[in-house]
Amino acid sequence: MSAVLTAPPAASFRDSVDRMFTEAAQLMDLPPGLEEKIRVCNSTYVVRFGVRLRGEIHTFTGYRAVHSEHQEPVKGGIRYALNVDQDEVEALAALMSYKCALVELPFGGSKGGLTIDPRAWDEDELEKITRRFTYELSRRRLISPAQNVPAPDMGTGEREMAWMADAYKRLHPEDIDARACVTGKPISFGGIAGRIEATGRGVQYALREVFRTPSVLTRAGLSGTLDGKRIVVQGLGNVGFHAAQFLSTEDGARIVAVAERDGAVMNPAGLNILELQAHMKSTGGVRDFPGATFEPDSAKALELDCDILIPAALEGAIHRGNAEGIRAPLIVEAANGPITAEADAILRARGVVIVPDLYANAGGVTVSYFEWVKNLGHISFGRMERRQEEARHRILVEELERLSADEGLGWTLSEGFKQKYLRGADELELVRSGLDDTMRGALQNMVAVLETNAKVPDLRTAGYMVAISRIAASYRALGL
Ligand code: NAD
Repeated sequence: MSAVLTAPPAASFRDSVDRMFTEAAQLMDLPPGLEEKIRVCNSTYVVRFGVRLRGEIHTFTGYRAVHSEHQEPVKGGIRYALNVDQDEVEALAALMSYKCALVELPFGGSKGGLTIDPRAWDEDELEKITRRFTYELSRRRLISPAQNVPAPDMGTGEREMAWMADAYKRLHPEDIDARACVTGKPISFGGIAGRIEATGRGVQYALREVFRTPSVLTRAGLSGTLDGKRIVVQGLGNVGFHAAQFLSTEDGARIVAVAERDGAVMNPAGLNILELQAHMKSTGGVRDFPGATFEPDSAKALELDCDILIPAALEGAIHRGNAEGIRAPLIVEAANGPITAEADAILRARGVVIVPDLYANAGGVTVSYFEWVKNLGHISFGRMERRQEEARHRILVEELERLSADEGLGWTLSEGFKQKYLRGADELELVRSGLDDTMRGALQNMVAVLETNAKVPDLRTAGYMVAISRIAASYRALGL
């Protein structure tokens, strides 16, 4: 009998997250049983519900996984996509627990999704489906300001969050905090300035902090600043667009390629991201973007020679089949789980530095936290202090000008300086400041673990260790 040699099946997304978790946990001194308690997903609710659309009943399948309730509410996005399944939402819920712990947000981890192609339904139909899904979640307290707070993810945005918040409010009219039941809402409906850009903005702040941290930069064999660095981005959706736009217009980086569903566009001099987004909106894809070379095999762009690769589309984009071909020395995981555990091992052996998802894309949930706090406080950030801050600055400016005139010193403060200095910070500036602080602090916490323990191989393991130790501390406080 001859043996048939086949490669072992590729690890599922949840297996990948579990493997990364276990690798980190083994380097820690956790009490017996606690490692397993933290790793497993506490519960997953699967619901099948019917909605009458186009004259017939259509049945939809939805999920809400709750990974860890060491802190409540639990937090995590709702995804609308055809490939949503239990394995995926459980992996994403686990990542949310670790992410929230790493960036010190008082949340456990959760994630949900609906197996649906959102482009196959019109707006009225999607609203009906979303309101019905909210009703199903609400019946089981899987949406609630105190227990479980969803947010947007792939295929959902402000519009869906507004429908969910409104549906919840109708079911719980007595709940004065009802708007805090979801985050990522439109500003006119209880949202917060800077939430839409938050994940991409967080990717930018993460990269800036990497470039301020010589030990990480040197590992990647890079030096200098972001100015002129060649970046390849996969996925020009919410996260990819904002990251690419900010890095190119504010940090001088060159986005040399964008990989999308229909192919990739490339330009070594750098692509204009705003124009590319407008082109995608009008044509449905990146093909025929003026001034760029088009490659129909989108995945090939991942293997281009560049300084930084930002996968910002979907999980498993970098796998054991293409990991050897990746040429970027630095990868920033803007998407959740874009590198499988097998690819992670290959890239690590090759010395590629990976800024892991649980850190790199934490900007979204961080600003969601600010939104939740704003909703519970029923007041926007800066409202009480802004004018008072302006008044105090004005006293200083006037005193300096008086001194200059009285003493004949001839100082003049430019109008530009006065305008910038006098103005009190508005909500958007405060949100960006809080996000920047969060991203800087979290990277330094990971770097401290990486640099003080020779057994810690990379930033991902360090990030998991920081997160696991915080979750373990919460459970210990509960006597577990
Ligand atoms: P999105 O739906 O807005 O964008 C995804 C983009 O990827 C789209 O432009 C789509 O056309 C493109 N895409 C899909 N398949 C592709 C393929 N095979 N090759 C190239 N491009 C492809 O989603 P998003 O909100 O930007 O989320 C992207 C990733 O970031 C997901 O992994 C999500 O979980 C993660 N994330 C999002 C947020 C958030 O705030 N939106 C927060 C944290 C993490």
